[in-house]
Amino acid sequence: MHKMPYFSKKIISWQKINGRNNLPWQAKSPYHIWISEIMLQQTQVKTVIPYFHKFINSFPSIKSLAKSDLDKVLANWSGLGYYTRAKNIHQASKIIHQKYNGSIPKNYEQLIELPGIGESTAGALLTLAFDKPGIILDGNVKRVLLRVLGSKSPINHSKTQKELKKFAAELLPRNNFRTYSQGIMDLGSMICTPINPTCKNCPIQKKCKSFQLNLQNMIPVKAYKSQKKEKNINWLLIASKDKVLLKRNANKGIWQNLWLFPEANSLNCEKFNLLEEKESLPLIVHNLSHQKLSIFTKKYFLENKDRLPIDRRGFVWVNKKESVKMGIPKPVKIILENHL
Ligand code: SF4
Repeated sequence: MHKMPYFSKKIISWQKINGRNNLPWQAKSPYHIWISEIMLQQTQVKTVIPYFHKFINSFPSIKSLAKSDLDKVLANWSGLGYYTRAKNIHQASKIIHQKYNGSIPKNYEQLIELPGIGESTAGALLTLAFDKPGIILDGNVKRVLLRVLGSKSPINHSKTQKELKKFAAELLPRNNFRTYSQGIMDLGSMICTPINPTCKNCPIQKKCKSFQLNLQNMIPVKAYKSQKKEKNINWLLIASKDKVLLKRNANKGIWQNLWLFPEANSLNCEKFNLLEEKESLPLIVHNLSHQKLSIFTKKYFLENKDRLPIDRRGFVWVNKKESVKMGIPKPVKIILENHL
């Protein structure tokens, strides 16, 4: 039995008039929607839009993505962070191309088996790409639902996730799934904002416990998380004329397969006799979701780059222009922009 037809009806009519209906991936193919959904994980819409255009220009179809090499995919993702997402997209595109003849599957069980597609992304694809019932539980939706319930269960607890999933399933409409899902996400992003939501413009105000009890700014509650791990990184920016030495990161974990500056301990110290004029670059502090990186970089000049006896595999000399086409994380990009 449908628990709250009022809720979905209100959200659907609100979305049609007030929601976001001009996003570049809307009314496009399931491929476009899939790429946007992955990019939107942990990233805001306004940040995603230019990356989305760039990515789709480089890979206009699933086939072109599947046939491309990982370096090109990472280069198009450079600066967006969370690079595992790009690797998963690339792997999933190969599976879709080979196993599903280039079409994204339309059922939950097949979607969830693809790399990088979890419960919420599978729900988003079902509803936004195929207009089928699907549950989206991104940060915006969770906040709206917790406020409607007036629940102080910590938003980042798995128990809360289960409760919200059940509640979200009860709220699903009988049709107009796409508009409903877009509506609840838009409501979270535009009206039911993290701080000072504009409840006076909210279409579901009458059914919202937080509004009735004036709890809007106390919900959602976030459980205390242990502090981020801190890590120091020591990079060497070795420049020779207009070229700089980069090393592919073969280590598992962050930035795997991306191009970084060599670390101080990855080159034999004796080689430094060849290097001249050292300079310490300003410290870069780079925050990841689970780690805080302090990046110390020393710049060296090398008269003749061929004299540095490096193992050719895994190292490359590139100029600024060439580096743009490679998969490099944000701190490397910043250093190259400012110090090469
Ligand atoms: S009434 Fe306010 S707190 Fe409740 S859902 Fe609407 S915007 Fe959010």
